Amino acid sequence: MPETPSASPLRPALFLDRDGVLNEDRGYVSRWEDFHWIAGAREAVAAFNRAGWLVIVVTNQSGVGRGFYSEADMHVLHARMAEDLAKAGGHIDAFYHAPQHPDAPLDAYRHPDPPDRKPNPGMILRALGEWPIDKAASLLIGDKPSDLEAALRAGVRGVLFEGGNLAEFLKNEALLPIASPPA
Ligand SMILES: [Mg+2]
Repeated sequence: MPETPSASPLRPALFLDRDGVLNEDRGYVSRWEDFHWIAGAREAVAAFNRAGWLVIVVTNQSGVGRGFYSEADMHVLHARMAEDLAKAGGHIDAFYHAPQHPDAPLDAYRHPDPPDRKPNPGMILRALGEWPIDKAASLLIGDKPSDLEAALRAGVRGVLFEGGNLAEFLKNEALLPIASPPA
């Protein structure tokens, strides 16, 4: 049901790095054939959805800037992720990506210090500006120090996930929301 922005109550957001958090990081994953969900990742996303959180992916995609694959390829992959996630009752509210890189051979993607590229906080800051987010109640899960630095610089709590089952990890850390809002 659509809401006008002014009527939207603030919601906590779960910011997720992609590679190493949602899917196994095999280096520049760009094709569905090479995409393998982290155990418990879909279930974790669905649990946050049910609890009324926004779920937002913030992913460095220097593979685009480096010319390994295109943004169109990436969007196709993200669409497949969304389709598969839906089967588990989950959805991602938004994907933010940072294709720029200091060494990008393509002019359009070359930037000495891309503001969106983690550890810079650009993607998170943009999301905070574009969604009705309760920043103080929000959380970022990443698998690298650069994820946590970006979160810190955006004023969002960051938690390091070092592998295993994502849903179990969040449950053990007492981070998995249990309460459901009224439907
Ligand atoms: Mg990662």
